[in-house]
Amino acid sequence: MPLYVYNTLTRAKEQFRPIRPGEAGLYTCGPTVYNFAHIGNLRTYLFEDILKRILAYNGFRVRHVMNITDVGHLTGDRDMGEDKMEKGARREGRSAWDIAEFYTRAFRQDIARLNISEPDIWCKATDSIPEQIELIRVLEEKGYTYRTRDGIYFDTAKFPGYARLSNQNLDALREGARVERNPEKRSATDFALWKLSPPGATRQMEWGSPWGVGFPGWHIECSAMSMKFLGEQLDIHCGGVDHIDIHHTNEIAQSEAATGRPFFNYWMHGAFLNILGGKKMAKSEENFLTLENAFVKRGISPLVYRFASFQTHYRKPMEYSEESIQAAKNGLEHLCNQVREVAKGADASSGVVSPEFREKFLEAVNDDLNMPRAMAVIQEMLKSGLAAGDKHATVIDFDRVLGLSLVQAAAPQQLPANVEALVEARRRARESKDWAASDRLRDEIQALGYTVKDGRDGTEIVKR
Ligand code: AMP
Ligand code: ZN
Repeated sequence: MPLYVYNTLTRAKEQFRPIRPGEAGLYTCGPTVYNFAHIGNLRTYLFEDILKRILAYNGFRVRHVMNITDVGHLTGDRDMGEDKMEKGARREGRSAWDIAEFYTRAFRQDIARLNISEPDIWCKATDSIPEQIELIRVLEEKGYTYRTRDGIYFDTAKFPGYARLSNQNLDALREGARVERNPEKRSATDFALWKLSPPGATRQMEWGSPWGVGFPGWHIECSAMSMKFLGEQLDIHCGGVDHIDIHHTNEIAQSEAATGRPFFNYWMHGAFLNILGGKKMAKSEENFLTLENAFVKRGISPLVYRFASFQTHYRKPMEYSEESIQAAKNGLEHLCNQVREVAKGADASSGVVSPEFREKFLEAVNDDLNMPRAMAVIQEMLKSGLAAGDKHATVIDFDRVLGLSLVQAAAPQQLPANVEALVEARRRARESKDWAASDRLRDEIQALGYTVKDGRDGTEIVKR
């Protein structure tokens, strides 16, 4: 059952064929660390994590690189505006280096909470300045660059096929952008490779270069670092859909111009998380929800968001609403209960993965990561006539892709000592038929966030 993915470059679902058999090189554009990631950003990282797990589930050895943008990403799309890092530093009265470290740590905590596995290699833009300078130097040598008063630019007219990824109408684009564009740029689509520090001013982040003191343009970091860590020709590059028109288009132009070879073979893009009414969640809008605010502080497990993200295919916009999160919370709880139930089966430890359902599951996830269908297969399997032990083995195998920690969900719960003591006191009260005490103790346990279920086989305590 081959793996098919939708390739933005060819606008078709294609079988994934890696450059080196059995291996998959994956580069995912990482966060710009001037603020917390919002749950929209995190949707994109969840989609990339699912892709990575599906590659591994198919037996590929994945080598995953993620960059940290800690310099050069400007507030305007086409090299206008201020460096987001310097802006964030001013907002917080701290240095750009300090906020980069702070928000990188916050990002790593967020992804850990979502069970998103860490990349094999993290790379900060500021750690690869020499490689970026070298790439620009090669482009200059090959005649793709020109100089303006504020920097070195890539001349997009010299690169045929500039719109291959985005499929944009370049004439209309170049015409329409005339008003706000830097008058020294030859074309609106040209982009900065190296920006010079403003005359007379010292930036917090700046470096010497053959063209003068300054800093790299945003796009060059991803080209330089993907080639540094993965080689010149690569497998899969991902990001959100907003990267198609500019960031990834520019990455392709500068990389292929420099090497003369195709850059990445597959480009995959995740659709947006919108807030109700179809408005994109964005850091610049200051309307964003963080994982901390929307989930952790409200006592909702971040894995509820992970589960919620499986309900919409990654190429379709997902709408965030309180109802969708409540539905996901119930859905995850139900799944954990189902897993707990099958784990209780006498043959739980000797169960085997069902070949029939594994095939169905693989068919779903290998059809361009169709997680909504995969979730339906799981329900079909759990409701089938399979033995409990086989159901258990099968769902735990699927969890390699889901990443919902279902083994832990099914394990007997470790209750905190105070709850354990109340449960024991209630057991003794019931033994001596002191129903009033039993009820009072049940209320106390429930007040601590646990549900008490008395059944034929004893009492079950479940965390809410
Ligand atoms: P940034 O930190 O702004 O560079 O963005 C990090 C990642 O989040 C990129 O891959 C973006 O394409 C993606 N992204 C930005 N906004 C959203 C959104 N509302 N929904 C999903 N992904 C997003
Ligand atoms: Zn990038």
